[in-house]
Amino acid sequence: MEEYADYLARGENPKKLQGFWFKKGERTMARFYHSDLDSLPFPYYGPEDVFLIDNKKIRQVDQNDIIKYLVHTYPTMIARGCPMKCTFCSNNAEDNRRLRIRSVDNVISEIEHIKNQFGMPHQVMFRDDTVMSLRMEYLQEFVSEWKKRVNIPFTSSGVIPNAVNEEKFKLLLSGGFQFVKMGIQSGSPYVRNVIYKRPETDKQILKAADIFNRSKISKLGYMFITDNPWEKDKDIVTSLRFISKLPRPFTLSIYSLNLYPGTELFYRGVREGSIKDPYEWYNKSTMTLKETYFNMLYMMQRNLEVPYWLIWLLTIRSIYKNRIYQYVFKKFYSWYFRNLTEFGIDRRPHKKETKLHKILNLFFKILNLRKVRNKLIRLFQ
Ligand code: SF4
Repeated sequence: MEEYADYLARGENPKKLQGFWFKKGERTMARFYHSDLDSLPFPYYGPEDVFLIDNKKIRQVDQNDIIKYLVHTYPTMIARGCPMKCTFCSNNAEDNRRLRIRSVDNVISEIEHIKNQFGMPHQVMFRDDTVMSLRMEYLQEFVSEWKKRVNIPFTSSGVIPNAVNEEKFKLLLSGGFQFVKMGIQSGSPYVRNVIYKRPETDKQILKAADIFNRSKISKLGYMFITDNPWEKDKDIVTSLRFISKLPRPFTLSIYSLNLYPGTELFYRGVREGSIKDPYEWYNKSTMTLKETYFNMLYMMQRNLEVPYWLIWLLTIRSIYKNRIYQYVFKKFYSWYFRNLTEFGIDRRPHKKETKLHKILNLFFKILNLRKVRNKLIRLFQ
């Protein structure tokens, strides 16, 4: 931005600057990506000269913001880029996917730097794309230094199923790993492998889920994508049924597919005419799902331990295509979720469960025969 402002101040055309994307589709060459991430300074959080947008107004960062955004959970990254080629991911726009990794010392020095400035964070969230793809030797050094120098809990949102390795996972847990989120994206192998170009098989995903489940990690989350215009009903049904095969407990994050400019799916949309105006996609939120029957089933699975047989029943074509059934289901869904965590598919603040919700939750748990069967198998193993 500084360079951009300098260009404007000198009255020069900023379109000569690398790494810019202007309205009306003009863009300049991507900037050179730093391979040596250690040479970059740590992020500057002020509080002097740091501002944020709050309620559509710009204001200076204060102590409460520091506590809320940095001390409670400090966000940072060990590496940038990703070796995968998912067709929807912004990592693959602009050739940004080459994996570049910081040294262990550099990562931990950043946490020490934050500690000296604002106090020790309660936990660190590594917003990495592939934390478990890091080499074993790197993770060993990381865990050993982490315990010696900071020793606080840490979490990561970037795990891909075919990189999950029990040995690495146990090592991370021993260092204070507390919460893992894994991107599955779809339970349909066709959507995953062909549309999204993700190589995982169902078996690999279920194996990774089993490793997490057996480890008793305190929080575990899976991410799925919906509202994909290339997905057929049968793919969504496969995906919904797959979710109920994953061992509970877990949290579910459902995102509405966004066709980010520069990604393979974006160009496919342009080619096939489904993207008329690229700018409409800049403002689309991945958090707002379309109001469809299938999305309601996704959200039901998010909020309740819906047993496999019930999801199987609710996804039989002759049932879900029946208009009377759809009408009754939507009424029930609206009534149930209006008073609970999320109504419809809009994200709303969580409300407390009522007695009725607790009873229904219990009812679903009791009816979850697959879970009972798995427990019995484990008991007699
Ligand atoms: S694995 Fe995750 S970060 Fe990597 S390309 Fe795919 S979606 Fe993007």
